[in-house]
Amino acid sequence: MPLVTSKELLQRAFEEHYAIGAFNANNMEQVQAIIEAAQEERAPVILQVSQGAIRYAGLEMAAGMVKIVASMVDIPVVLHLDHGTSFEQNIKCLRIGFTSLMFDGSKLPFEENVAITKKVCDIAHIVGIPVEAELGRVLKASDGVTPEEVKAAMTDPDQAAEFIRLTGADSLAVAIGSVHAMQAREASLDIDRLKAIRDKVGIPLVLHGSSGVKHESILEAIENGISKVNVATYLNQAFVRGLKEGIEKMPNEVDPRKFLAISREYVKEAVREKIRLFGSAGRIDSSGGFVSPRKTFTGVKLGGTEE
Ligand SMILES: [Zn+2]
Repeated sequence: MPLVTSKELLQRAFEEHYAIGAFNANNMEQVQAIIEAAQEERAPVILQVSQGAIRYAGLEMAAGMVKIVASMVDIPVVLHLDHGTSFEQNIKCLRIGFTSLMFDGSKLPFEENVAITKKVCDIAHIVGIPVEAELGRVLKASDGVTPEEVKAAMTDPDQAAEFIRLTGADSLAVAIGSVHAMQAREASLDIDRLKAIRDKVGIPLVLHGSSGVKHESILEAIENGISKVNVATYLNQAFVRGLKEGIEKMPNEVDPRKFLAISREYVKEAVREKIRLFGSAGRIDSSGGFVSPRKTFTGVKLGGTEE
């Protein structure tokens, strides 16, 4: 089916306490692995491309691959810009057909982050495309971060409420203890902070840096407002594991497809595992629509995000 926006997907996941997996893709094999796993699991899925992926594959190729695979399946697929760091990048992606944007102004002073996020939202909302924003900072493991630094960069619930009121962003990436590009799964999230943010902003929240977070902590976060979980490092690890194994097993092989096929299979299994963990498996029926909710929503009050 044609691409869908992330608006309804995330709102539904927020209300029904599960999360949509947002998987980063840089090449054809990764795109195929993600879509095949989601299709087999009957899960709505977000394929996202980072600025790095756009530099690597080119914007047309990155967007084109996702559009093609979406047209081949009968589950909802979103094409999302991950960590768009400029207004210009967001507008380029909007024009080429992205169905979900992100402006990450988390490194900027609050007022500047508000101003650019609002500008992106104002334009994207005219054509019905939702925008993810970020407040507080999810740091990167390669920068050698300390626990104190992670804590100091966390999202402030009151400031988050003010931020959403001023910008009209549709979802918010929050810093609650995860770190980007962590190789081991050992971080726990600040669930009390997450609950406070959810109660104050009332819109779907996004977890970045999930690869380094313990599974039980991710589940607790999903129960309390996280509706989109980004997964990149875990998939990259699976991909490279496949390559290495292939080269080791077939040292004289010169056909790269022999290695890439193993990588694709490993990524697919990694995506399947995450989809099941996030509770998004089995949400789409055989006609491509949502199955009725498994749980009735009784938690926080919704609102504030009408376009
Ligand atoms: Zn991120």
